[in-house]
Amino acid sequence: MKLCRFTQAGVTRIGKIVGDAVIDLSGIPGVTGSMRALLTALPDLLDAITAADAPSFALTAVRLEAPINDPQKFLAIGMNYAAHAAEAAASGIPVPTSQLWFNKQVSCISGPEDAVELPLVSDKVDYEAELAVIIGKRCHDVAEADALDVVAGYMVCNDVSARDWQARSPTFTLGKSFDTHGPIGPWITTADEIADPQALTMNLTVNGEPRQNSSTGDMIYAIRQQIAYLTTVMTLEPGDILATGTPAGVGLATGCFLKDGDRVAVTIDGLGTLENRFVAEKRRRIPE
Ligand code: MN
Repeated sequence: MKLCRFTQAGVTRIGKIVGDAVIDLSGIPGVTGSMRALLTALPDLLDAITAADAPSFALTAVRLEAPINDPQKFLAIGMNYAAHAAEAAASGIPVPTSQLWFNKQVSCISGPEDAVELPLVSDKVDYEAELAVIIGKRCHDVAEADALDVVAGYMVCNDVSARDWQARSPTFTLGKSFDTHGPIGPWITTADEIADPQALTMNLTVNGEPRQNSSTGDMIYAIRQQIAYLTTVMTLEPGDILATGTPAGVGLATGCFLKDGDRVAVTIDGLGTLENRFVAEKRRRIPE
């Protein structure tokens, strides 16, 4: 199943994607506007969601929004592909000897049809194609063998990074958290549709030009290891997002950063394409 958030006639709702259509799920008792709430209650709602076939809208007639806009956590692992760790090391970022986790603040989330801003205060904005895992069950201290049981689904993520801000402190947080720098989508594909999340090809293009091309099989720490390690420390909740690392080919390695008008497209096997336009910030944003 492919779950989405969409806006039609000025109202944002949760839907499922079937072919070229979006089925509106908002009429199902217990379905609110919150994807986090839906994932929490999914075992109870699954039959009704599976059976739903109306109302239906053409995909081209709706605006797709970030599939989740209210997670409690948006965590990301750094340097989790060997070739990328090597290119980052050449740019002065030490290769970690254990899983390196950082936060993207949840306020950076944006959707598949949103523009991503190039902040006036950065001239080194970069892309990172990543597989994102969405947690489906409240969990703590999960064994590797059981780790995929807590996964609700998968989606595409671009871990947009302001390299100049990232380099200013060892925590990465500021360089990874500018508003709009967490595009996710275009929808969540539920875990039952992905036979092996460690065997998905992924690629990224800038204005159609190939920049990253890899497979999730090249991760240093697999998703199971990531979930086991994280839940040694913290409880994960339905809706939490884990960005699982980017392969080689980022702009940091070549000094080629994103410019006004660039279009960055990330495609992962079975999960769709997340394409965002990058636009220069005109003046410092005033949060709404
Ligand atoms: Mn990343």
